[in-house]
Amino acid sequence: MQLAEFYRSHRWCGYCGHEMQHSTREFACLCTHCRERYYPQIAPCIIVAIRRGEEILLANHSRHRNSIYTVLAGFVEVGETLEQAVAREVMEESNVRVKNVRYVTSQPWPFPQSLMVAFMAEYESGDLQHDGKELLDAGWFRYDALPLLPPAGTVARRLIEDTVAICRAGA
Ligand SMILES: [Zn+2]
Repeated sequence: MQLAEFYRSHRWCGYCGHEMQHSTREFACLCTHCRERYYPQIAPCIIVAIRRGEEILLANHSRHRNSIYTVLAGFVEVGETLEQAVAREVMEESNVRVKNVRYVTSQPWPFPQSLMVAFMAEYESGDLQHDGKELLDAGWFRYDALPLLPPAGTVARRLIEDTVAICRAGA
């Protein structure tokens, strides 16, 4: 999917406007005129599970249009580190400050060209608030009383289950 979208959006050169060819040796498009070479652009997106003692911060996202509660996520902006993106997204979406941000795993996400980079973090300070636009609801949920979660196999579910394991081990 990601490659199909790349080829579809790179039929003409962005510099000189001439037609492009697919490289036969790598995932790239080559300009037949100015020789510019284009590679698929991957948009990193952070996703983070936040733990506060025996609780996990979960939200009902308006874009999902269902009753699933999941972790927070957002795109990395230009000039930002992954850690800064985690701190900013969490602050913007929930008014919470996090600490001990730790990398967990990653997953290609071709909608249309993301790479999900998954983290776990701990609550540091702030009263949970959400703006009601991106998040319909957000709350702290005890690890043994969780709402409807994203399906198994998603990176979000993995983060939630890892956080539950930490809560359980500490209980
Ligand atoms: Zn060109």
